[in-house]
Amino acid sequence: MIDKLNDPQREAVTLPPGHALVLAGAGSGKTRVLTTRMAWLIQTRQSSPLGILAVTFTNKAAREMLARISAIMPIDTRGMWIGTFHGLCNRLLRAHFRDAGLPQAFQILDTADQFAAIKRLLKANNIDDEKYPPRDVQRFINCAKEEGQRPGDVEAYDSFRRRMIEIYTLYEAQCQREGVVDFPELLLRAFELLSRNEPIRNHYQRRFRHILVDEFQDTNNLQYRWLTLLAGDGASVFAVGDDDQSIYAFRGANVGNMADFERDFARGAVIRLEQNYRSYGHILDAANALISHNTGRLGKNLWTEQGAGEQIRVVEQPTDFAEAQWIVDEIRSLVAEGRSRHEIAILYRSNAQSRVIEHALFSSAIPYKVYGGLRFFERQEIKHALAYLRLISNPDDDTSWVRVVNFPPRGIGARTIESLMDQARTYDTSLAASVARVPGKAGSNLAQFLVSISQMAEATRGLPLPELVEHVIEHSGLIAHYKLDKEGADRIENLNELVTAATVFAIEEHFDGLPAGESVQWVSSATDSMGDSLTPAENISPLASFLSHAALEAGDNQAQAGQQAVQLMTVHAAKGLEFDAVFITGMEEGLFPHENSVLEPSGLEEERRLMYVAITRARERLYFSLAQSRMLHGQTRYPMRSRFLSEVPDQHLKWLTPKQQVAFDGHGSEPRWAGASRASIPNRPSVAPRSPTTGVLVGSQHFRIGQGVSHGRFGEGTIIGLSGSGLEAQAQIQFRDAGTKTLALGIAKLDITH
Ligand code: ATP
Ligand code: MG
Repeated sequence: MIDKLNDPQREAVTLPPGHALVLAGAGSGKTRVLTTRMAWLIQTRQSSPLGILAVTFTNKAAREMLARISAIMPIDTRGMWIGTFHGLCNRLLRAHFRDAGLPQAFQILDTADQFAAIKRLLKANNIDDEKYPPRDVQRFINCAKEEGQRPGDVEAYDSFRRRMIEIYTLYEAQCQREGVVDFPELLLRAFELLSRNEPIRNHYQRRFRHILVDEFQDTNNLQYRWLTLLAGDGASVFAVGDDDQSIYAFRGANVGNMADFERDFARGAVIRLEQNYRSYGHILDAANALISHNTGRLGKNLWTEQGAGEQIRVVEQPTDFAEAQWIVDEIRSLVAEGRSRHEIAILYRSNAQSRVIEHALFSSAIPYKVYGGLRFFERQEIKHALAYLRLISNPDDDTSWVRVVNFPPRGIGARTIESLMDQARTYDTSLAASVARVPGKAGSNLAQFLVSISQMAEATRGLPLPELVEHVIEHSGLIAHYKLDKEGADRIENLNELVTAATVFAIEEHFDGLPAGESVQWVSSATDSMGDSLTPAENISPLASFLSHAALEAGDNQAQAGQQAVQLMTVHAAKGLEFDAVFITGMEEGLFPHENSVLEPSGLEEERRLMYVAITRARERLYFSLAQSRMLHGQTRYPMRSRFLSEVPDQHLKWLTPKQQVAFDGHGSEPRWAGASRASIPNRPSVAPRSPTTGVLVGSQHFRIGQGVSHGRFGEGTIIGLSGSGLEAQAQIQFRDAGTKTLALGIAKLDITH
């Protein structure tokens, strides 16, 4: 098992008990070391499988880790605690729902559900959603929770925040009443459970002697505290990470946790790995050169024994359509050369880019699989079906109520629902519990709905999970409804896939054959070799477990698993993964680096780390692609080349299309567009015919691409795109301080500076 490792890797795997940090760059074997250490601890009998807790970044990574361990040795991995922070906290809360103050069948709100719940809350309490936009409320609540703060802990230094805190309080009451838990709440509850309940804390502290954490650089403060609390004085924490791959600061990740951990725990037990086993030389050197533009790095060298390999292929296309089509053609030839489709990944910075790429793949009948983005479980029809499933296990889940009480339509109007909400508010109950208080026809319609839910619950009691799901999508009326819908065929197919997903899930989680209504004992106290009887049986019914899975699953469309498909995902979702061939698309200013990030140095550095993550996913073949014009958010843009292209030394790049333009150098100097090539941009078919030009006359002013201009509010900038003429004329301007803006030339007052 350890023969195949290099010296520092072996040293890390076989470290004696105690805290340790493995700090190393991409592809140096951190995840491999972590997995091997788990196997090593078990094999050398330093730990039972049940004494290990491992945190991975995605559910997919957790599954892979389990698979690798069972490949190394024949043990039953079922009772092992390997999963994401959310997954593990969910498990803890399910096992101790009472102590955590939750109903047994509590449901998990994903980000979109949470947003809907907040909107409903604002409306119910007559709170002005312009002054307190639901997005901002959501961010406020989540940030507070990620810092471990309940409403009483948040500082109220002005009236706005005081009101936000009140909303937070109302929101908590609503969630509690409805028996639902949002993502950050999973963590905070689990943290509070451990910190307040000494017997439970002692139990888990005694049980988990070894805690292993992958992708440690992206832990947030609450996760860090959760880990240290769980570790107590006795456990060994083994963390692996790479500061250069910290890409979740926007969600509260704190790369400083690495330094803190080193100082407070690892104290000298820091191992560095420098040999990269993943990528060929050109790819690795390109990544190293790029990331060297960042400041304040912990500093690492990465080298490879593999040869230089191929240069990075760069291709520039006139439009995003052409870019996508080019990629599809290239994938065809890669496959013809004998590469597997699932070893090819297309990465993008922003989810909005995937539609065009998906369309091109779809038209060419190339199977593909999208990770993240609009995930299977987030599709409208699936959400509806899940809402029914949630209601049959917990009728008090108001979010689900509101979602399906009139879907398929059953004559329950908005006014009825509002009066129901009023009742529920007045009597402080759930919607379901207030039905009897609504009079007349409206009331009887509602009662009818309630009856149909309880009939479904009754009829499915004791059925295996897939049959249960099948019964509910049929008897909810969803299938019949979509049959009437012209475009419903896809939706019906997806609903049927939900049954498949439930089947796969039941098999993977060993629920097959077990009735969905009955609880299963995963780890009974008898098998807990750490020897005390406190851990209650994990009473997770297959349905509850499936619903948590649907809420937590990081976008893997299980039903399609097994098919050889090209992999599509955002760069964020690609962390930790590797592929033979990788396309990094949209290498354009404003997109990658993203326009929201470039104004602050820290934002730009995070973008650069993202690019570093993207590049280091490739083993053999890497492509950079970009478009000269792109349709984004309903607007055509004419972006400049990404500054990251100029941060990779020329020797690593091979241009497949002419390289006559110079990329933006990132210092606000005039971008050097070869203006003439603008004129050759073909008009895209689906866009309003407003052809891009290189020069426009408005009044007496003649605007050109590349020209310097100044604007009263946005300051100095450079014209990077022009379109239309006369009153329709617009310019896209890259302002030095205000980012890129599109302005109507007839209206905006611009001075030409040079
Ligand atoms: P990332 O930072 O991207 O998460 P990582 O440091 O976790 O990367 P791994 O994914 O563990 O790196 O390893 C990268 C690749 O190198 C994997 O395919 C792994 O199997 C391989 N590898 C790691 N160590 C060795 C080794 N000693 N011999 C051969 N292959 C190795
Ligand atoms: Mg890894």
